[in-house]
Amino acid sequence: NSWFGARLVVNAAEAGSRVALVFEDRSWTYAELDLAIRRTLARLADRGVRRGDRVVMRGEARPEALVTMFAVTRMGAVLVPVHPQMTGRELVVIREETAPRAVVADPGFLEGLSLGTSLGLTWDELNSGDPESYEQPSYEAGSPVAEPPAGSDAAIIAFTSGTSGRPKGAVLTHDNLYWSMVNGMARLPVDEDDTVLVATPLAHVAVLGGLPQYTWARGGTVVLAPRFEPDLFVDLVRDHGATAAFAVPAMLSLLARHPRFGTPGTHSLRWVLAGGAPALSSTTTGLLDRGVKVVNSYGLTESSAGVTYAALDEVADRPTSAGRPVPHVELLVVDEKGEEAPVDHVGEIRLRGPSVAASYWTRDGLRPATDPEGWFHSGDRGRCDAQGRLDVVGRAKELIITGGENVDPAEVENALADLPGVLEIAVGGCPDPVWGELVTAFVVASAPEPVLDDIREHLEGRLARHKWPRRLRVVPALPRGATGKLQRRALTELAGDRPA
Ligand code: AMP
Ligand code: MG
Repeated sequence: NSWFGARLVVNAAEAGSRVALVFEDRSWTYAELDLAIRRTLARLADRGVRRGDRVVMRGEARPEALVTMFAVTRMGAVLVPVHPQMTGRELVVIREETAPRAVVADPGFLEGLSLGTSLGLTWDELNSGDPESYEQPSYEAGSPVAEPPAGSDAAIIAFTSGTSGRPKGAVLTHDNLYWSMVNGMARLPVDEDDTVLVATPLAHVAVLGGLPQYTWARGGTVVLAPRFEPDLFVDLVRDHGATAAFAVPAMLSLLARHPRFGTPGTHSLRWVLAGGAPALSSTTTGLLDRGVKVVNSYGLTESSAGVTYAALDEVADRPTSAGRPVPHVELLVVDEKGEEAPVDHVGEIRLRGPSVAASYWTRDGLRPATDPEGWFHSGDRGRCDAQGRLDVVGRAKELIITGGENVDPAEVENALADLPGVLEIAVGGCPDPVWGELVTAFVVASAPEPVLDDIREHLEGRLARHKWPRRLRVVPALPRGATGKLQRRALTELAGDRPA
């Protein structure tokens, strides 16, 4: 059985009474978690979901989402997690590409969808049923799960915003996720005494395939936060004695300003894993002063999760370093000539290894994600020092990253092109001390000029809220090159330092 979550079955048998998961006022032991997974698996099978089918899941921060991920992948079906802010309209693209058998979400969201031939399944429905009657899934002929998944089978199709106006679905196989777990465990000091607080939505593969997995592989406890709020985060650390946590840099900058963070109440917390956006030096050192080490990690959807991790004992000296590559990945920095860049020289980061996705899923079949030698070109720029530690210094790709969420400027531009008063529009990311970047719209306008509220109104129901411009600049012209091509890099300068 190559199911990447196989370790959970072993834990349920060997350490069934240990607490695996805590959410609000409920907790699940390893035995109960396994039972919940089997119950959901049986419900999926009852409703006709089969091996190889795609199941779209809205990544709400709720225990059923973790359970559903394991149930779907254990039966050999393929999970397609989507952001909880995603609108029905945005989901159309993902459904076109993946033709899912089912969509799992809360009833309110399902009601507004035209599901076509897909089934709508609610969380409650997947978790109901007589808990005693679910055996281990049997792989006998004729059963809905006739064969266990193979290592090379797709487990998760993780959509990630590119710069093409259409998100791309990276295919992560059971082997990819397994090796990602091996890699993470080699670098993160998690053991059975750890309690790990997870405060990010369950749509990101780094969360779904990341820290909860490492924690459970070691027999530790995961505390799932229903949402991120600094106060709640501090309370959860204190109430559950969390020893480690998972967050994005924007959350950490809010925590670094929180009066109760690091006071005796949160002394149990030793480190916080941060990724998805550049670490900020002031945040890392600010948290260090309060006794918490930020473990900066670099990775992408296509690499399943982190491919570098900072070392705990180096955080003080190198607060923004992303650390060394994990054991089972090759990381190369490549210069303009396509050659390996010397130490301390900036170039494009490329990755190769068993946790890196080989392909993207499209309705017309698989498309390679790597070059013919198996290298994935990240579009990120970085440099390695003599000790092999990576600094991520920027992006060659035109993605905006705001609060750890990726935003494709072309997608936002397309959605705003028909806004009244807009003659031309370009969307860019402007630096921000908390969010990293703020989505900013640059508009060449006709009278009457649109205002930010018009933009918000226009995007309601069209685009997930994290993609909405937070600033609007009306400009006389957009920066264009000789051939008329938009020069995105020049946009940031147009924004100046004026407040929004
Ligand atoms: P995603 O595919 O959503 O996981 O986003 C991956 C992108 O986030 C990368 O290509 C980087 O641009 C950015 N990123 C992730 N981790 C870091 C980090 N530690 N430092 C700087 N940028 C990062
Ligand atoms: Mg991200």
